[in-house]
Amino acid sequence: MHCPFCNTTDTKVIDSRLVAEGNQVRRRRECTSCSERFTTFESAELVMPRLIKQNGNREPFDEEKLRSGILKALEKRPVALEEVENSINHIKHELRATGEREVESNLVGEKVMNELKKLDEVAYVRFASVYRSFKDLNEFREEIDRIAQEGDGTGSSGS
Ligand SMILES: [Zn+2]
Repeated sequence: MHCPFCNTTDTKVIDSRLVAEGNQVRRRRECTSCSERFTTFESAELVMPRLIKQNGNREPFDEEKLRSGILKALEKRPVALEEVENSINHIKHELRATGEREVESNLVGEKVMNELKKLDEVAYVRFASVYRSFKDLNEFREEIDRIAQEGDGTGSSGS
């Protein structure tokens, strides 16, 4: 590591600690030549890719936004928060595993749909109707009918 003050190549680490919940190492370094001190941050390259919006704008991945979208779709549905967190972690893992610095924001929507499909079909349709505009309304209705039929006979309307 070159000293940013005098450009000497020989600097020594005088302190090293984990920051950012252990995802980063912060190092205090001291130049052996001019004795100036400076800080470096080191983190694995597995960062969340930035999202490319449909209009071409880039924006950072926002976990809170992802969570609130999923929770909205799951409103009043019988799905445990723990399962939601598992899904979010799964999505994040897959996005990191792409190794890309930027991905289409659609990709996130697709992954959310995959996860919701596993968690709860009603939530899946709710989400899909917003994030992937169904080709036409009939297709959307068919999807809802299909799920409604599957839901029949599960004992919700006893006499
Ligand atoms: Zn120096």
